[in-house]
Amino acid sequence: MLEIYACQAEHSRGRQHPEPPAPTRNDFQRDRDRIVHSTAFRRLVYKTQVFLNHEGDLFRTRMTHSLEVAQLGRSIARSLGLNEDLVEAVALAHDLGHTPFGHAGQDTLNECMTAYGGFEHNLQSLRVVDHLEERYPQFDGLNLSFETREGILKHCARRNALIIEAQEPGGVASRFLLGTQPSLEAQLCNLADAIAYNAHDIDDGVRSGLLKLAQMEEVPLFQHYKTITLQLYPSMSEVSKSRRLLYETIRRMLSDQVYDVINTTRENLQKHCPKSADEARQAGPLVSFGGPMAEQVQAMKSFLYKHLYRHPQVMTTTTAAQEVVRELFAAYLSSPQEMSPDYAARDETPRAVADYIAGMTDRFAAKEHERLTGRRLLV
Ligand code: MG
Repeated sequence: MLEIYACQAEHSRGRQHPEPPAPTRNDFQRDRDRIVHSTAFRRLVYKTQVFLNHEGDLFRTRMTHSLEVAQLGRSIARSLGLNEDLVEAVALAHDLGHTPFGHAGQDTLNECMTAYGGFEHNLQSLRVVDHLEERYPQFDGLNLSFETREGILKHCARRNALIIEAQEPGGVASRFLLGTQPSLEAQLCNLADAIAYNAHDIDDGVRSGLLKLAQMEEVPLFQHYKTITLQLYPSMSEVSKSRRLLYETIRRMLSDQVYDVINTTRENLQKHCPKSADEARQAGPLVSFGGPMAEQVQAMKSFLYKHLYRHPQVMTTTTAAQEVVRELFAAYLSSPQEMSPDYAARDETPRAVADYIAGMTDRFAAKEHERLTGRRLLV
């Protein structure tokens, strides 16, 4: 059922530690199963997407976000003849390296680590599956196949790419040095990620009251489908139906983006005719939005940035979260014994501290901060 340009599990470049094949599952299914059973995956339930975990029970968390990315990715993969198992594995793992408190936590940890090599969340996701998970007697990490690891490492600074390349020549970081693309399945996950968070951040933003439905007129794609919904179902203009109006608008907007990716990618594939997954990697980005949709999506992103991510109420928690991460980092750096024994025992203290903090859930970070400083800033 797979097209010739899809990644095939039987042609995988394999795992860093060779293992006999599983009797009933291919390598990508096996990767997905390892990810779902990992500790880092369970922690995603209590990690912020935009709203802190304790701010409401219905907001997205990193876990529900990852599930939505997997759903969108799989459904697009199936219609393009790409490898659904690989897409699912990458989608479920793509945010494993995220710190507590969303982007605020990650940026702050990066600042704290400036003198020690910095902190990048995509690279951290790879560190989680390559080193930090402790589940197997024979090796650190989950020993995932090359293609899943390639998809997880979405971005990587040149400096870090050079370090990885030295350890793993021709491996997952090569493409950042050669300027080639990851597999089509990995490209698809990146787009599914953006489609998912734009849509669910609008939903969460409106639910939280920080965004008003009327204000969404500034987003042409949203406005277009809101107008269509109201034409088809005039009763949706009643205040009591505003939730359904929001869902129906988002649903139509999501479908439009999904069909746009499918159609544009089909055209790109016809134009470039890659004969294998490797040829597709050489061909430049092939999984993409068409020009007009890319503009619409950009408009939506800018709107969310300005009105939701920078909303004064979000910024207040952001500032507190930054303080928590900064003070935790300083506290563990000067007293490594305050971390769990396995982290305290590690040689490179700053990296051990970054790994330890990055692995925390929102509430554990807030509790630890209170224990170490006597001040309660969050939760
Ligand atoms: Mg994501």
